[in-house]
Amino acid sequence: MKNEMTLTFDSLSENEGFARVAVAAFVTQLNPTLEEVADIKTAVSEAVTNAIIHAYPGEVHTVVVRTRLDGETVELWVMDEGVGIEDVKKAMEPLYTSRPELERSGMGFMFMEAFMDQVEVLSKPLEGTTVYMKKKIQKGVTEQEA
Ligand code: ATP
Ligand code: MG
Repeated sequence: MKNEMTLTFDSLSENEGFARVAVAAFVTQLNPTLEEVADIKTAVSEAVTNAIIHAYPGEVHTVVVRTRLDGETVELWVMDEGVGIEDVKKAMEPLYTSRPELERSGMGFMFMEAFMDQVEVLSKPLEGTTVYMKKKIQKGVTEQEA
């Protein structure tokens, strides 16, 4: 089965929970385990929070979350057209944050990588950032165990 949806919303912190729950509800079609849903929610939450907090400092602009289901695979794109990331490799290092004064801990990318099978970050200064994430739902295992 293939199915796809796209959310477009303002970069307001109120919308982080909305995006997380909307993606989780959409992914339910694949019969994921509670743990798999929790993993995807965490990854979406971290990527969307980054777009809200880092992409448009002091401004409100658009964040787009695209979700594609293909067979047992979930693919996610969290996109902004904000300030971008100068050094993606450095930004993805555990505990690196450009905003320690906001009490950020630099754990966001670490969580995304821990909970998803694949995380790719495409970013260009002043053009924006796309975080691509992929996870396979272990459907067969759950059904046999049930
Ligand atoms: P935490 O997620 O623990 O609150 P953090 O957001 O700083 O802290 P990460 O999520 O790992 O940590 O992100 C690391 C850094 O990458 C950020 O501090 C920021 O500089 C940069 N970054 C991440 N996402 C974006 C984005 N969408 N636009 C611009 N910069 C970003
Ligand atoms: Mg973060």
